Amino acid sequence: MSHANGKVVPAAFPPPVHSPEEFIKNGLDAEDELIEVGVVIVGGGTAGLACANRLLQLLADDPETMERLGEVPVAVVEKAKTCGGHNLSGAVMRPAALEELFPELTREQWRKEGFAFGEVTKESVYMLTGPKSKLPVPILAVPNFKNHGNEVISVSALARFQQRQAEEGGAYVLTETSATKLIVEDGRVVGVRSGDKGRGKDGEPLGNFEPGTDIKAQATVLAEGCWGSLSGAAIREFDLAEGREPQVWELGVKEVWKVPKPLDRVIHTFVQPWPLKVAAQYGQLGGTWLYPMKDEKTGDDLVSIGFVVDLNYRDATTSAHDLLQTFKTHPLVKDILAGGERVAWGAKALPGGGYWSMPKLSMPGAVLVGDAAGMVDTAALKGVHHSIKSGVLAAESIYAALKRGNQDLSNYEEAVEQSTIGTELYQVRNTRQAFQKGFLIGSLLAGPSIMSKGKVPPGRQEWHRDDAEPMFIGDTKKRYPKPDGKYTFDKLSSVFITGNATRDDAPNHIRVQKHVPRELAETWRWMCPAGVYEIPDDAPEHGDVDVIVNYTNCVQCGAITAKGGRLTTPEGGDGPLYQIT
Ligand SMILES: Cc1cc2nc3c(=O)[nH]c(=O)nc-3n(C[C@H](O)[C@H](O)[C@H](O)COP(=O)(O)OP(=O)(O)OC[C@H]3O[C@@H](n4cnc5c(N)ncnc54)[C@H](O)[C@@H]3O)c2cc1C
Ligand code: SF4
Repeated sequence: MSHANGKVVPAAFPPPVHSPEEFIKNGLDAEDELIEVGVVIVGGGTAGLACANRLLQLLADDPETMERLGEVPVAVVEKAKTCGGHNLSGAVMRPAALEELFPELTREQWRKEGFAFGEVTKESVYMLTGPKSKLPVPILAVPNFKNHGNEVISVSALARFQQRQAEEGGAYVLTETSATKLIVEDGRVVGVRSGDKGRGKDGEPLGNFEPGTDIKAQATVLAEGCWGSLSGAAIREFDLAEGREPQVWELGVKEVWKVPKPLDRVIHTFVQPWPLKVAAQYGQLGGTWLYPMKDEKTGDDLVSIGFVVDLNYRDATTSAHDLLQTFKTHPLVKDILAGGERVAWGAKALPGGGYWSMPKLSMPGAVLVGDAAGMVDTAALKGVHHSIKSGVLAAESIYAALKRGNQDLSNYEEAVEQSTIGTELYQVRNTRQAFQKGFLIGSLLAGPSIMSKGKVPPGRQEWHRDDAEPMFIGDTKKRYPKPDGKYTFDKLSSVFITGNATRDDAPNHIRVQKHVPRELAETWRWMCPAGVYEIPDDAPEHGDVDVIVNYTNCVQCGAITAKGGRLTTPEGGDGPLYQIT
């Protein structure tokens, strides 16, 4: 197949997925074949666990309602080996939501618990103008990057702390368990089905095969983060995205470094004109962070460093992993990491559409929280506090419904709108859309939009789907350094340090067409931070090529879903085991 101008739209090559049959189950199994719980929460990240934490606080003071929820009042289903294993963030957190959730804990105690690493006291923003040059940007000009008073955390460590709190409060946390289907009965969500374990490459049952089980619940919370299979199915089944803007996505790659001298500030950079391009044809937009982390337990000085790119770019050779390696060659970074050692790496996508792209948040029997509902302010790169707050509001709405004896969760949406989530996301509702027309236009409009708290530009600004961008094979790759294995790294050695434990004979959870135009194959090859997609050396230079999918390397970042493929839920326990990301 040939394509005019070598431009290929990923959406023209949809993944082989049979929705809704694959992700929706009609009706529950017989009573004696299922597990019954009070509330089931899919996803043990900060949002899902905040929901569990708050529900258990409320139930602790109300034994009667607790009793009515049965032997397992709250169950959390998490696909990672342990909560935190699949969670990754920058992360500078606005502290209020966590302070409200655990009012008895001080910030010193957060640090002793090992998930917080110090309050931000200084900050700098730069524009990178070349491989050795930079321009300081006054913080007054970019108030979205104000972080004074916020806390540097690890969401992976925070999730493990929240898991301990939830278990102490009486939650049943099923780790290494994927929820693979949403169960709908008479137009209402009545629970989820857990995935089979022990299937081989072609889906055949192996010696250790264990079938999945229906988990029946009075309320279901979808807290899957971005690209949740069940959240996507729920959004389609209940038309939750009707009348909203499409969701758009970003991909971040992060490393944690142990460094000999402490970094004294939070740093953000604009990465245009270097190492990303300004020209509109590249469609690129991105940014970086450098956050100081003081580990109270070990006394180590650490630095969190990351590169985020919007996934609506057009140059197929855009690679967040390689851009991060390139960024590290800038003297600004070299001075900070010199003499240090990389101790962690990871990658994850995040929803970038904000206010107008959020779906309706409730459906009969279920709600969406956190990234699953698109609650990230990407102008400031902040979502952790919204995730926690939405989990809390969902818990309060569910508890009130259980007390009333009905299952109407529709007031949750109003509670979100009235909360800091609604207020903050509304203020940046139109800030980033103009970047889809190019970096220069976007930069001109972003400032007034932030200063006017969203009044400029007026109305509702449109988003365009990431998979609708025509791809070409450009030259962004020319700037990537050759990895030296000490300071700059290739993808496979990076995946290695995530503790990725996907079985070699696990079924393939990545759905893509395997015979596609080279432009699309190159897009996947460069984009995937884990090196999952390969193009054979003898493939033709132009036209269609075969793609090899090394899915056992996948770190479940989710980016493939933005560019024409689909990440589906893998077997529970597979994937990375992040500790400090
Ligand atoms: C690169 C990057 C940098 C960021 N930086 C910042 C920052 O500095 N400050 C900030 O405030 N925010 C930041 N954010 C945003 C913030 O990290 C997120 O908003 C927040 O962590 C989302 O939490 P969550 O619980 O909704 O989702 P997640 O953390 O993604 O958790 C979802 C959980 O659900 C599990 N799961 C998913 N599907 C299933 C299933 N079907 N069955 C079982 N388990 C399932 C996953 O394994 C995961 O543990 C950043 C995000 C990224 C990606
Ligand atoms: S294959 Fe896995 S790691 Fe690679 S882009 Fe897709 S989801 Fe991310």
